[in-house]
Amino acid sequence: MGEKCLACRIDAGEVVVPGGEIYSDDHWVVEHGVVSTAPVALVSLKGHMAVRCRRHVEHFYLLTDEELLNLGLLLHDVAEAVARATRPEHVYVFLSGEVMGHVCWHVLPRYVGMPANQADVLNGLFRLKTWVCSHDEASKTSGEIKGFLDQLVAARGNNELYAHMGWR
Ligand SMILES: [Zn+2]
Repeated sequence: MGEKCLACRIDAGEVVVPGGEIYSDDHWVVEHGVVSTAPVALVSLKGHMAVRCRRHVEHFYLLTDEELLNLGLLLHDVAEAVARATRPEHVYVFLSGEVMGHVCWHVLPRYVGMPANQADVLNGLFRLKTWVCSHDEASKTSGEIKGFLDQLVAARGNNELYAHMGWR
């Protein structure tokens, strides 16, 4: 493999995401989204959370059964935590991975005043970089989302799927 992708550079600690990991298990990590890294991380829209696979894997169809096992629960709980913490008009949950070349889900709040149109939101977010926030805002929002996410995961108690995934 050539140069490491952004997700793998974050995993290796070469890029620091404000707010840090708010969830981590054997296969998935959740942290605030970033849209570029030079010279320091340019943080995405406040409350945009990235759910990235720990393993460098380029395509959804290459995920293993183990990696897929609690993905639905996790995406649901991250989306609910984002909704509760940020009170958006809508929450997008999507997987692209084409630019980064690493499976990474995006859980993205759309706030009042943003276009209610996913093509414009994605264009503004990733190409025009219209909605970046400060590192402080990202850290604070990540902390708030983590508070809700911890409650949701804990509320599942000894849910076999979460337990199986080695939540820590
Ligand atoms: Zn990677």
